[in-house]
Amino acid sequence: MTVQDGQAGVHGKVAVVTGSTSGIGLAIARQFAARGANLVINGLGDAAAIEAERSAIEADFGVRCLYSPANMLSGAEIAEMVALAEGSLGGCDILVNNAGIQHVAPIDEFPDEKWQAIIAINLLAVFHSIKAALPGMKRRGWGRIVNIASAHALIASPYKSAYVAAKHGVAGLTKTVALEVATQGVTVNAICPGYVWTPLVEAQIPDTMASRGLTREQVIHDVLLEAQPTKEFVTVDQVAALALYLCSGEAASITGSILPIDGGWTAH
Ligand code: NAD
Repeated sequence: MTVQDGQAGVHGKVAVVTGSTSGIGLAIARQFAARGANLVINGLGDAAAIEAERSAIEADFGVRCLYSPANMLSGAEIAEMVALAEGSLGGCDILVNNAGIQHVAPIDEFPDEKWQAIIAINLLAVFHSIKAALPGMKRRGWGRIVNIASAHALIASPYKSAYVAAKHGVAGLTKTVALEVATQGVTVNAICPGYVWTPLVEAQIPDTMASRGLTREQVIHDVLLEAQPTKEFVTVDQVAALALYLCSGEAASITGSILPIDGGWTAH
């Protein structure tokens, strides 16, 4: 095994991480940078705060880090994000599809525009980014695609119809693309976290309180962690470490896999 195949797997590679201005994506970006990957970060938010994150990554880890403002609702902007990596950093070797949103409501009250946005950002954007990044990966004969799905790619919960449908779709997309590129040095996998403590989880507490008539503490302990046997939130760094492993040389035989990291939730 060469050094490049081993622990130094992402050193000098270029990683595009969608939705990396917050939560899991930011942790992934920082762990990849810590191992020497150059980055394109992406996501919504306050411009000054994003610039602070971007410059901190360059300063902390001595890598190049660019920001793409691509909105995952736009296929054209997603293509520009990949083109930024290719034009300014020399390629898109690693693609982490992480951007995602959530909305919690009974199906018969689910706002149409929320349904469409969840499918567009959580599923359709994954198609657009893979379509844009794959030709370069095939040309170079090496690539890693990691889709951040969810335990909801494997099982369902009430009131999350759009999210569960989108994440199940990501699992199917992951397996299909893995088969299409299996002989070309490109692996495609999905990570399925249980409940990770991030702004996305925190933001759904008020809606769950309202739809189920519960207090904040009841939502955290009786709803969010109810199904997670460890009774601990997964951490963003644990998810990032799994993404990093999938991008290593040692993980070359892992493709088309839908990998839970959920404190035992889907073992029920
Ligand atoms: P988060 O809200 O902290 O971060 C989401 C990121 O996506 C942010 O950077 C945000 O700016 C970006 N984003 C949202 N809409 C966008 C758009 N239209 N265009 C570009 N960027 C956009 O959420 P998180 O908890 O870190 O979630 C990250 C991923 O992990 C999501 O796909 C989510 O479904 C998945 N996930 C999260 C959990 C959890 O418990 N937090 C569990 C399972 C799966």
